Amino acid sequence: MIGRDFSSANYRFGFNGQEKDNEIYGNGNANTATFWEYDTRLAERWNPDPKSQTVPNFSPYATFNNNPILFTDKNGDIGEISIVNGKAIIRSHMVYYGGAANEKLAKTATENIQTQWNVSGGKVMFNGKEYPAVFKLTYEVTTVENAKAKMEVNENKSDATNTKPLDPSLNFVRIESKDCLPQDSKNTMTGANGSTGGDNSFFFISEDIQPGNTSQAHEYGHGLGLTHEGGAKATTYHGVPHIMVTTVNAVDKEYTRDGQPGVLIDSKHVDSKHLLNQNCRTVTQKNLSELKITPLKNGLQKGTVGGSSNLLFDPNGKTNKQNKEDATKNKTNQTH
Ligand SMILES: [Zn+2]
Repeated sequence: MIGRDFSSANYRFGFNGQEKDNEIYGNGNANTATFWEYDTRLAERWNPDPKSQTVPNFSPYATFNNNPILFTDKNGDIGEISIVNGKAIIRSHMVYYGGAANEKLAKTATENIQTQWNVSGGKVMFNGKEYPAVFKLTYEVTTVENAKAKMEVNENKSDATNTKPLDPSLNFVRIESKDCLPQDSKNTMTGANGSTGGDNSFFFISEDIQPGNTSQAHEYGHGLGLTHEGGAKATTYHGVPHIMVTTVNAVDKEYTRDGQPGVLIDSKHVDSKHLLNQNCRTVTQKNLSELKITPLKNGLQKGTVGGSSNLLFDPNGKTNKQNKEDATKNKTNQTH
């Protein structure tokens, strides 16, 4: 992480898990009870979307609008934890938008996340059982308007309980160039807040999106519900830095930018001369063990991973929620 992580009090759900129950219920159909309901609601909400036929799809991967796999996918192949051949498949769908969002960057960011989260070969616990974890990500690039529309539908305001998004696997990522950001945000990397249990709204800097850069995988970790090593405190960390180790962790010399060991100055600072080299981070079993996996309460082997806020970022890296708060603050200031 460089810079801040945007916070969201609007936490609900996150990257989805929906588990295919082949091993538990026999081959192929017991998983449909929950998913059918879900599927039907999605179809009801998405079909009338007037923009769906007019917004071009830049991605060869699935989009809900133009190629609504979810409508026909009885097994819930997007946004799920499904046990296939004894492995836990965790799926997420990334929706990229913003001034610098394009096919190339979207592909690189998605591949970075998928590759880096699969490198550990570790396991996740689900309902008391351990499964090797496999991350599968899909993506699309779309307009700001279309991302906003999807987000609003995903908010699921019509749900009386309003406790979960329609599709917890959906993630929204704004991509902008550093050049377009205000001076105080030049080094801002991404959104998402792990401290409240996860998120599905991100802000990526286009210049950071290069093969091997771990920043996107780090933010995805926040989305899955992970917090920084040491929390808000500056701490020393020995060994290969895991994906949630940040530049306020003093690390061994092999993992700093200048080859000198990191030095803790106080509980909030490390010596900035020997900062973590972010390309050295790797997803570990510790990260997988700490994922915030929430089984659904219906007793089926399904659940969500992380959290969801459905927040739209503006080009300056502020969320629609922050803008709303600023507007309220300004109004208050004016009246006093
Ligand atoms: Zn972070």
